[in-house]
Amino acid sequence: MSNSLVVYNTLSRKKETFVPIHPPFVSMYVCGPTVYGEPHLGHARPAIVFDLVFRYLKHLGFKVRYVRNITDVGHLENDADEGEDKIIKKAHLEKIEPMEVAQMYIDKYHFAMDKLNVQRPSIEPRASGHIIEQIEMIEKIIEKGYAYITNGSVYFDVPKFDKDFGYGKLSGRILDELIANSRELDGQSEKRNPADFALWKKAAPEHIMQWNSPWCKGFPGWHIECTAMSTKYLGEHFDIHGGGMDLLFPHHESEVCQSTIANGIESVKYWMHNNMITINGQKMGKSLGNFITLDEFFEGTHPNLQQAFSPMTIRFFILQAHYRSTLDFSNEALQAAEKGLNKLFETYRTLVDLKPTSNSTNEEVEKEIKSLFQQSSNALNDDFNSPMVIANLFDASRIINTVKAGNQTISQENKNTCLHLFDTFLFDILGLKQSDDTKNQDNLENDLMQIILSLRSEAKNRKDYATADNIRNLLTDIGITIKDTKEGVEWSK
Ligand code: ZN
Repeated sequence: MSNSLVVYNTLSRKKETFVPIHPPFVSMYVCGPTVYGEPHLGHARPAIVFDLVFRYLKHLGFKVRYVRNITDVGHLENDADEGEDKIIKKAHLEKIEPMEVAQMYIDKYHFAMDKLNVQRPSIEPRASGHIIEQIEMIEKIIEKGYAYITNGSVYFDVPKFDKDFGYGKLSGRILDELIANSRELDGQSEKRNPADFALWKKAAPEHIMQWNSPWCKGFPGWHIECTAMSTKYLGEHFDIHGGGMDLLFPHHESEVCQSTIANGIESVKYWMHNNMITINGQKMGKSLGNFITLDEFFEGTHPNLQQAFSPMTIRFFILQAHYRSTLDFSNEALQAAEKGLNKLFETYRTLVDLKPTSNSTNEEVEKEIKSLFQQSSNALNDDFNSPMVIANLFDASRIINTVKAGNQTISQENKNTCLHLFDTFLFDILGLKQSDDTKNQDNLENDLMQIILSLRSEAKNRKDYATADNIRNLLTDIGITIKDTKEGVEWSK
């Protein structure tokens, strides 16, 4: 398990050597989706980024427990403490049960993530299934004197926390500025201070999802679910907490407050945040008309798209950028990604079919490929630098194509080293896969070619050279060349 992995910790704002709390175990929590709408690009990036982290940690030999939650209650509009619950709003609109809304979008989310080849987490808890845990945690915070009850609702006392522990460590927000920038209290607010946030909200009688609590019939605030569920499944102190940068404030900052008080410790050792996605330089939003769902990408049905883009193109495109960089989607950029990925897959197929041209190992090729392997490991060890890994795979492609062109020799050992590079990084760690369609088609093509070539060799055996030549010419017409060699007949497109 000795490794030199370094991760950027949002909390310390610097790269730190990764040392898990209880090696060889790694505990990781990532904020999952609020399930009230179609899965879109904003869902794809954190899922793929933390899938890379999950896969690489396992590759290093760690035993990873990966928890990614489902928010199916308590997430109010505009991420605020007022307004309608996002899921209940959708339920009203569709005239179905809130849990039907949640289930429908959980299924759609899973379906889309499977297509993107995102591995399922170890545990996927739902907020609505952990009301008791959330209530117990709120009770602890009240007991310790950092929350107060107004009219049945419970709020976290941010100024008190700020005085004792310092508020804003994670997001860099300063409490005084927050208060100054918040809208003036209209006297109707139940909060003592506009910076306070809800732990439990009293529900209006018509509010569909509500539970009994020691304070009133109501529902949990959005932030408490993650503290309650991460504590339940990963303990009071765990290794990695991830999510998109849009969750840094107020969601994750509030989690820091809650765990510091309830668990007596800042629960998270490494906070990791992926940067945001823009579309043609603009923030993605329903009102901007550039809100594209993953299905629309896969089918090419959105008016802004010139074509469909496969799940693997989307995945490759996301991994072509470092997770802490912003990423701008455009047709042109996606088309370039599609071309690049196809080139890598094509090289891999060439490599698989490549016949060793030498019995002795080509030391030069061996050294180059091994060095690319090492450089790819170094890149991932440097805060999961996936774009660098992809650049190394393109370098390897160049070498393989030089061999294919006959300008370089390789042995079986060379070939195995190349295969190992692609299998490890392209398929296992970056999680890219050739579609089953492509694979099936390749297999079918191979089988058909074997049949055609055996018919041709039968014709030759009975000295029917006219038929043999005719087969060759017909193949040439459709772009397939065949070559008679000592080992048999080779074909290529
Ligand atoms: Zn969360």
